[in-house]
Amino acid sequence: MSKRKSCREPFIVSLSTRAVHAGEERRKFADSITTPICQTSTFTFKDSREIEDYTRRGMTHYEYGRYGNPTATIAEKRLADLEGAEDCVVFSSGMSAITTTILSLVQSGDHIVITDDSYKKTLEFCRSYLKQFAIQCTIVSFGDYAALERAIRPNTRFIFSESPTNPYLNIFDLERLREIGRRHKVLTLIDSTFATPYNQRPLEFGIDLVLQSCTKYLAGHNDILAGAVLGRKALTEKIRDLHKSMGGTIDPHCCYLLLRGLKTFPLRVARQNETALEIARWLETYPKIKRVYYPFLPSHPHYKVATTQMRGGGGVVTFETKGTMSGAKRFLDALKLCFIGPSLGGVETLITHPALVSYYNYSRKARYDLGITDTLFRLAVGIEDADDIMADLERALRCV
Ligand SMILES: *Cc1c(COP(=O)(O)O)cnc(C)c1O
Repeated sequence: MSKRKSCREPFIVSLSTRAVHAGEERRKFADSITTPICQTSTFTFKDSREIEDYTRRGMTHYEYGRYGNPTATIAEKRLADLEGAEDCVVFSSGMSAITTTILSLVQSGDHIVITDDSYKKTLEFCRSYLKQFAIQCTIVSFGDYAALERAIRPNTRFIFSESPTNPYLNIFDLERLREIGRRHKVLTLIDSTFATPYNQRPLEFGIDLVLQSCTKYLAGHNDILAGAVLGRKALTEKIRDLHKSMGGTIDPHCCYLLLRGLKTFPLRVARQNETALEIARWLETYPKIKRVYYPFLPSHPHYKVATTQMRGGGGVVTFETKGTMSGAKRFLDALKLCFIGPSLGGVETLITHPALVSYYNYSRKARYDLGITDTLFRLAVGIEDADDIMADLERALRCV
């Protein structure tokens, strides 16, 4: 037999290429190059025979918008391809993906384990709302693997964590998590929003389910909310079923914007990795800076695991300035390029001051116990020129 490759053989293409093409048919409606937005709430049947072909004989057919939409299907296929997942379910927000996933995995009397610096709303849901359904939740300190293992009980269903976390960019050792999960026969879930499949691929480490807030890097333009859960079909099918009742359905037009954003996400994240690392290195040497947190800086406590399990450190840099709250406010007020606002992963650089935003109603002591000091900032770099962002920061830092 000839060793020459057949011209029909499938070819392996890189993440950047798949980000543009995965999930789409080559020929689309009216031969358009872009995926059409199927802006409809319902789908019609030609006649009674077609209904029965669908209901009784397994013919594929869309039925009603909450149960699926062609534009959403393509987004799901592309996201699954990029994450290396068998299946994906898209949602109207990251929180919708997280809460629906959690609810599909537990019953009253069950127990779950979550790490303490998870996304604030995820923690709140697990700590407060799950109690209403008699689901117990143990919150363990991030990085304490012994405590994590001790927290597991016979009725524990899963361990939920994040990597990197907000705002300290702590990195979970995914191999250790998988090993603990396997040994105790509990599922492992990772919110990988800060990493994206460009920087980290938890499923390849044996993690069971990956959660993404596509609002951030994946859509990438600070203009939509979207979420996804990814993993093997045996798990996602149950989640998809519950999603049909919970109704956190993504709008088809929003899905189009997600697909559009995904085309450039590897380019954007590669640039954001570079810019963030450059800014982190520069800040670390800057006299008015007390401390910088960035997983690809050797000074970060999880530098080693970060650089072995991730391709880049991501676009978020957390830092503490010297001085006081009033100096911190002067710094914020002097910024001209960086926008003051929550979120991350979009093309515009954003900066947030956790003490004034997410922790405004905490006492100073409670806030300091969590490490949220008066002069802590989270910078989420966009795709502007790194020199321009640094010039803006430097000018504003003179006001500290
Ligand atoms: C933003 C975010 C979420 C929530 O996603 P939404 O799309 O805002 O609902 C969850 N986890 C992490 C890590 C996030 O950054």
